[in-house]
Amino acid sequence: MDLLTTAEALAFRDEVRTFLAERLTPELRRAARRATSVFHPPEVTRAWQRILHERGWAAPDWPVEHGGAGWSDVQRYIWAEESAAAHAPSLAPQGLKMVAPVIMHYGSDEQKATLLPRILSGEDLWCQGYSEPGAGSDLASLRMRAVRDGDDYVLNGSKIWTTHAQFAQRMFCLVRTNAEGRPQTGITFLLLEMALPGITVAPIPTLAGEHEFNQVFFDDVRVPVSGRLGAENDGWTVAKHLLTFERGGRYAPALAAHLASVREAAEATGWLELPGNGERLAREAIAVEGLRAIELAALAGRGPADAVRPSMLKVLGTEASQRIDLLALELAADWQGDLDNAPDAIAVAMPRYLNNRAGSIYAGSNEIQRDLIARGVVDQAAA
Ligand SMILES: Cc1cc2nc3c(=O)[nH]c(=O)nc-3n(C[C@H](O)[C@H](O)[C@H](O)COP(=O)(O)OP(=O)(O)OC[C@H]3O[C@@H](n4cnc5c(N)ncnc54)[C@H](O)[C@@H]3O)c2cc1C
Repeated sequence: MDLLTTAEALAFRDEVRTFLAERLTPELRRAARRATSVFHPPEVTRAWQRILHERGWAAPDWPVEHGGAGWSDVQRYIWAEESAAAHAPSLAPQGLKMVAPVIMHYGSDEQKATLLPRILSGEDLWCQGYSEPGAGSDLASLRMRAVRDGDDYVLNGSKIWTTHAQFAQRMFCLVRTNAEGRPQTGITFLLLEMALPGITVAPIPTLAGEHEFNQVFFDDVRVPVSGRLGAENDGWTVAKHLLTFERGGRYAPALAAHLASVREAAEATGWLELPGNGERLAREAIAVEGLRAIELAALAGRGPADAVRPSMLKVLGTEASQRIDLLALELAADWQGDLDNAPDAIAVAMPRYLNNRAGSIYAGSNEIQRDLIARGVVDQAAA
């Protein structure tokens, strides 16, 4: 049975379409279509999150007790498809998708009560303080020190590639509390406010000339011990729990919308009629359908094992996205007019192509994902 064509699923899809038709404004749609990165500008995401929050739909993945939408996996997939097809902005993942599930799992009652509602409403934006100069793929080698002093940890060091740190009210971060033994055992997970004295956010311009990420410096920053998530020196366990959410996502809905936008521009400019171009677009449409099939199989409890699927999807999804960007770039190269009046896919082709080179690097590079897939397959064979 096709999970997406039950009477219940079809009725839900209709409800979602009606909502999007009524509440997703032309300005928000245009902003999403013209976004140059997967991280949409905060003024756009916040405006859309407010509208969703009013409807109780800001957090499809959260349980109802914390203000989640209470949807099934199938409903969440339908939501992802419809909101991508309608060009709804993507909400910032650091709060809603990354730190919130670990606060729910490891947080104290007080942490849950104070932090989760502010994430849900969009009042607090979060950033992720994991990577450091010299600690990326090999994250466990991180060195930013946190020394206990009374009721505080005192932090010194820096974090790098911190997306949207310049907008964030809070950061979740990994710090070194013990330099002895295996590197993984001396790491602690902290939640902190970005306004604390001693924090400096320094921009790192991207290749596209945008300010998306930063280096964040900590100079004797005092973070209350009450900001710790999980036990001291056990932050690696919390971080691993979080990474499963970071990599787990759905790729096909957004890719299908991206491809539709490129196809629209290809038709409008006549590029589609040139020899070979229709075939190249069709190839990508097949790749996106393939991803969708894996994602739907997972919903039905079939397909690749949980140990390898998130990594497979990440590699296939980001590589397809980069190939579609390349098609858009070729299309844009033939455009003679003013970019402001160009079809959306052409207008943003260059910055999008440049920014999206990062897709195969962040959230664990694709080389690391291939390694994880290989290990997962070996473990399965041995089991
Ligand atoms: C757009 C963007 C946003 C980001 N946002 C954040 C953020 O908000 N917070 C945060 O903490 N970090 C963020 N990152 C950092 C990201 O997590 C790291 O870039 C990533 O983990 C890779 O680390 P690195 O850049 O230090 O590269 P390295 O780890 O130095 O890797 C360099 C190259 O070597 C390869 N390599 C390394 N080890 C292996 C291995 N064992 N086997 C095979 N190949 C290997 C890698 O695949 C890569 O090609 C962001 C990165 C990007 C690009």
